[in-house]
Amino acid sequence: MKLYQEQELKIYNSLTNQKEVFKPINEGHVGMYVCGPTVYSNVHLGNVRTFMSFDMIFRYLTHLGYKVRYVRNITDVGHLENDADEGEDRIAKKARLEELEPMEIVQRYTVDFHEILQKFNFHPPSIEPTATGHIIQQIEIVKTILEKGYAYEVNGSVYFDVLKFNETHEYGKLSNRKVEDLVHNTRALDGQSDKKNPQDFALWKKAEEKHIMHWPSPWSEGFPGWHLECTAMSTKYLGDKFDIHGGGMDLKFPHHECEIAQNEASKGTSPVNYWMHANMLTLNGKKMAKSTGNNILPGEIFSGKNKNLTKGFAASVARFFMMQANYRSILDFSNDALLASEKGFNKLMEAIKTLYGLKPVGDKTTFNLSVWKRGCYDALNDDFNTPILIADLFEAVRFINLLKDGKETILAEDLASLKESMHAFVFDILGLEQQSGSDDDGDALSGVVELLINLRNEARANKDFATSDKIRDELLALGIQLKDGKDGTSFSVE
Ligand SMILES: [Zn+2]
Repeated sequence: MKLYQEQELKIYNSLTNQKEVFKPINEGHVGMYVCGPTVYSNVHLGNVRTFMSFDMIFRYLTHLGYKVRYVRNITDVGHLENDADEGEDRIAKKARLEELEPMEIVQRYTVDFHEILQKFNFHPPSIEPTATGHIIQQIEIVKTILEKGYAYEVNGSVYFDVLKFNETHEYGKLSNRKVEDLVHNTRALDGQSDKKNPQDFALWKKAEEKHIMHWPSPWSEGFPGWHLECTAMSTKYLGDKFDIHGGGMDLKFPHHECEIAQNEASKGTSPVNYWMHANMLTLNGKKMAKSTGNNILPGEIFSGKNKNLTKGFAASVARFFMMQANYRSILDFSNDALLASEKGFNKLMEAIKTLYGLKPVGDKTTFNLSVWKRGCYDALNDDFNTPILIADLFEAVRFINLLKDGKETILAEDLASLKESMHAFVFDILGLEQQSGSDDDGDALSGVVELLINLRNEARANKDFATSDKIRDELLALGIQLKDGKDGTSFSVE
């Protein structure tokens, strides 16, 4: 399917602050890089929202027929506690506190991250590189920036010279900051810094004696600056210039600003055509923070075990809730909002079930299918406007319910086309799944086991003991034990 040639997709570019028609560098191909998590704790719900937005974007671009190479990294070194290049490495600190190897911390939270994303039905990225796996590439970039004169070495550490760079380039163009203003806005350093100017940022840091994560380099045993890894990994897998770079709004400065500077200084090109930033998620109208208790872990949504929730919710309900907002708007998470989304989600799923069971009826179709479909694509082509798409989907839901009641009619080919479109928008692009409840899948399981018990009873009544024994034994192998009593057959799950 090659839809992309007929459609005009517009993307809001954070660099120019306007929607622009999307033109990929290589016809039919898209290179997309998204900054991944720093794996030192459970993934934050706000980050899940950001990654979900890019999952939807990945899905839509793929749906349009593009061959998308989607790179989302894992930050497993170099992300210090504050953005002034000071403080401890976040992963090393957690490792010290928990008396574990840093790579044990990385492994634990990478697994957690993948588990959570899988529950939310994410598609895995095409490549998921790690910062520690690309130390050599990062050292090479530092060497080049030094050669070009945009960095300097002090006591084994290498810093990017922002003022020097700004003489011939424009530092701050993504976040609309002026270098002069940054002098005043940057926290006063404690005097121990080797930086010439407070705007400068670390490309390579010499490791202190206690620091457990370090690698040899021409300058010192040390570790790369956080911003460097994304420059190294994005260009390694997508080329010096690629189509889309995404991340959370909070990464615009300094992270993405520094990425642009590193790329322009080392390769002479601005790396990215379309910068995209997803907005934040608040909880009950306030910023989420562990310290104030105004916080919720993604897994707690399913279990309902959080003081901000009255019950557990299916992952698809939470996904539907997030898709009801534009990715560039702030979204407020609350129990009431989720309850409302659950109603909407169930209505949508019911309608789809109904749709699958419908037969063509009448001698014409009483719904303008092509206009409706065009509207759905227009919404997505307008910078991935999922709330408008969802409103359009509910127009179809209304029609489906009227069809069921015999108040509308539809021809066979239109019915097939409606089924196909609904499937594409709801499951392929929004990434929703038919789900019944929260963690408690008990209802569905009971139904299936009851069905098998009835089949077994029928087999026994027909003296087909081979079949009845097979059902019992295979259920047992799955951990489900049948018990025959005088009131019939019951079951227990191990
Ligand atoms: Zn990054």
